[in-house]
Amino acid sequence: MNNPQKIRFGLSKSRILLHRQCPKRLWLKVHRPELEEVDDSNQARFDTGTYVGELAQQLYPDGVLIAGDNLGQAVADTQTVLAGEKRPIFEATLQAGGLLIRADLMLPDQDGYRMVEVKSSTSVKGYHLTDAAIQSWVAQQADLPLTSVEIAHIDNTFVYPGGDDYQGLFHYADVSEQISDMKNEVPDWIKDAQETLSGEEPCIASGDQCSSPFPCSFSGYCSPKTEPEDSFPPEVLPYGKTMAATLRVEGYTDLRDVPIERLGNLNHQRVWRITKSEQAELNPEAGRVIAALPYPRYYIDFETINPAVPVWAGTRPYMQVPFQWSCHIETTKGVITHCAFLADGQSDPRRPFAESLIEAVGANGPVFVYNAPFERSRMQELAEYYPDLAPALEAAIDRIVDLLPIAREHYYHPDMRGSWSIKAVLPTIAPDLAYDNLEVANGGMAQDAFAEIMHPETLPERRQKLHDALLLYCERDTLAMVRIAHYFESGA
Ligand code: SF4
Repeated sequence: MNNPQKIRFGLSKSRILLHRQCPKRLWLKVHRPELEEVDDSNQARFDTGTYVGELAQQLYPDGVLIAGDNLGQAVADTQTVLAGEKRPIFEATLQAGGLLIRADLMLPDQDGYRMVEVKSSTSVKGYHLTDAAIQSWVAQQADLPLTSVEIAHIDNTFVYPGGDDYQGLFHYADVSEQISDMKNEVPDWIKDAQETLSGEEPCIASGDQCSSPFPCSFSGYCSPKTEPEDSFPPEVLPYGKTMAATLRVEGYTDLRDVPIERLGNLNHQRVWRITKSEQAELNPEAGRVIAALPYPRYYIDFETINPAVPVWAGTRPYMQVPFQWSCHIETTKGVITHCAFLADGQSDPRRPFAESLIEAVGANGPVFVYNAPFERSRMQELAEYYPDLAPALEAAIDRIVDLLPIAREHYYHPDMRGSWSIKAVLPTIAPDLAYDNLEVANGGMAQDAFAEIMHPETLPERRQKLHDALLLYCERDTLAMVRIAHYFESGA
């Protein structure tokens, strides 16, 4: 870099926020952008935020949007609108004190404007206050009279009445008092960020800041994976974050090198023993529990979607709405059939989901799931919403048998690396049932696929492809449960 001290860097609110998380993150963003790795979860969070912001605008039909990416023009347009008759302004763009901001909502009142930042979370977070303090400071520098600074976050008690009526979706939290002192720190934040950008790459070690408030997109650069695939770092200890950190401090990089006396927890000792011996352990008790259960046996799994903005009348923000189930039915030992339900994505999936599920699981026999709280909660919610279906749903709930605690208590294989999730257990029992050849290979991908099916602009061919991929994925999950149950039973 030539004579870096003379360079002044353009700063926006988002750059200051990056600097507040980690000075190195801002430096890398500006000077080494090619190192950034944007993963799907970052993008999904960004898309949700954008959609929620647009919805907030729709609640003020008389508002004016300061559109476009030409920020100089946006600043000028904002001044023009502010000089005219007072009305709500979306994306008002202000520049003052060396900083540029865009305000989500500026809502006029008698003495000025309420400045509102719209968030897709369901409460006010600490970093929202930093955000609001910067916005408010710039508005103050620009001589814009603010009567309040607010965070509009999603109210998770809101029940969507349907008909595109989203009045009440947001809770407006006035944070003016909370940020009044913080605002005075903004000039220092700007100065610090400028100094960071004018200097060399900051020497900052990875730490808690790398995941808070958001996962850093430069972690691949700062913490490259150096351990070989066949190592067993202390972090494989289940629920052992603190223990693993202690062991790291003591210099252990592989669990197998840790003396057993160092591990007080019996489950940690079991994982250590099996990892070191490279021999899986299956307690015959797992098989005895399963062998005692009658036929027919049902193996079920649900997929759900939880949109921030409710889509169907009677649902709440972020509510888990079931849209798909798969069921393998074992009528007698080894005689298995399969059935499934997948919503069309055009109407509320809940009632057809519940009715078809009730029919599939019949009236008798164990209903196997893997991690029962999830399926049980969805069935209870459906029973509450459809009282006429409640007796049948509650009867099915009473028949649930959870394979997860059986696996957790009685089975472990070194390759599970401290996890008893179905995706960790399955390859150790039925490697032929891998997920990596599936187009939809996990719950997050299933949500994305169904969201795409729901989208009105998705073409029919694409919709069909996603539909088929979802069916295959959910079927794989319940077939996996069949294979796990059979494997346990074979060890009885
Ligand atoms: S990974 Fe961590 S240390 Fe590296 S830039 Fe990001 S926050 Fe900073």
